[in-house]
Parts: sequence; C-alpha cells; structure tokens
Amino acid sequence: MEDELYDKWERLVKRLELERIIKSERVRDAFLKVPRYKFVPERYRDYAHVDEPLPIPAGQTISAPHMVAIMLELAGLEEGINILEIGTGSGWNAALMYELVKTDVYTIERIPELAEFARRNLKGAGYDRVHVILGDGTKGFPPKAPYDVIIVTAGAPKVPEPLVEQLKVGGKLLIPVGSYHLWQELYEVIKLKGGKRRIIRHGGVAFVPLIGEHGWRE
Ligand code: SAM
Repeated sequence: MEDELYDKWERLVKRLELERIIKSERVRDAFLKVPRYKFVPERYRDYAHVDEPLPIPAGQTISAPHMVAIMLELAGLEEGINILEIGTGSGWNAALMYELVKTDVYTIERIPELAEFARRNLKGAGYDRVHVILGDGTKGFPPKAPYDVIIVTAGAPKVPEPLVEQLKVGGKLLIPVGSYHLWQELYEVIKLKGGKRRIIRHGGVAFVPLIGEHGWRE
C-alpha cells in the first residue's frame, strides 16, 4: 500500500520536473523525501498525488504540489538560513522547507486544531526541528527574527508590515496578495537598504484567506 502510494508520488514529481515547475535538484530531492500522503487526512491518502489542493481539518486546504514547488523554487532556500512560514496547515510545506535548510524551521498557524494536526503529522514523519507556533502569523514571530526568507501560504489584502520589518536586508517575503475569495497575485517582496523594497509579481494564484491583525478581519 505504502509502496503504491510512493510510486504514484514519484510519478507526479517526475511530471512536475518535465513541466519545468520543479527546476532544481534540491527541490526535487525534497519532494521525493517528503511525500504528501504523509500530511493529508487518512481518507485523502489515495489522492495525495493529484496535483490539486485537498481538504484538511477546519475547512482549510493543503496546497497543490505545483503551487508549493513554484514557491519553493522562488524562495531559493539555502542550507542554514533562517526561515519562517505563515500558515502551517498540514505541516507539509514546513517539512519540505526543513529538507532545504536542514536547520530549525518556524511555522505559525492560527487554528488550534490545525496546529495539532500539523504537529502530529510532523512527529509521525520525524521532523522534530519544525516548530509549530499557534498564533497570528500576520504579526510575524519576533523572537527568531530577522529572517532570510518568509513564506506565507494564505492570501492577504496587502503586505503585512511586520513581516517586512522582520526580514533581513536582502531577505525575501513570498506572499499571495489580492482578494478574499481565492484570487491573488504571488508577490516576491525583497527588502532593500534604507527602508526600501522591490516587489516582483509572479502571476495569479488561489489561496484561502490570511486572517489576522494585518490580514483580513474575521
Ligand atoms: N502550508 C500549508 C500546508 O503545507 O499544508 C497549507 C496552508 S493553507 C493553504 C493556509 C493556512 O493558513 C490555513 O491552515 C490557515 O488556517 C492559515 N492561516 C490563515 N491566517 C493565518 C494567520 N494569520 N496566521 C497563521 N496562519 C494563518
């Protein structure tokens, strides 16, 4: 059963490589190391290799593999850098991020049931250096700032200022920015010297809303 799931997963990874969505060996190896079926609810394990979002508890979603690959390729995660994820969900993306940086990863989730779900998944898959923090990620996580990279996996109405403040100069924030109802543009925000920033837009994406003090109001 597990072998069959892994075969299907490997085939999807190969397809994403052929489609040039997975571009680097590093991201490919991380994907092969962290199959998505370990992070979805039991009843969706058979669908984990399908390149679409899937339901996770509390009405949220685990993102589609192509979307996660696009963000990880853009993030350019190097070993040893200091990173933060906002929107833990299942914990899958955080585990992939760990495979790329090989050091502690901090990830924030606002829904207690999901923080627990992610902790269980991460423990089951052996990721004890991925730290799930329960809270409002729009405020960032000052105790471990400044960060080289922050990845937000929920859609914001605008770029939350605390996240830019908590970046190193030269650091980058990847965040979907746009409407509440599942349409945003993926922004890459690079923090420059003297309080300046450069924004590169990477096209349309569809994420659940980022809810919090510097995001959408409940
Ligand atoms: N990265 C996740 C994964 O690998 O499964 C998928 C994330 S899901 C698309 C978006 C998540 O963002 C949801 O779990 C949602 O509860 C969470 N979220 C929304 N607003 C948040 C906030 N202000 N702080 C932290 N998490 C938030």
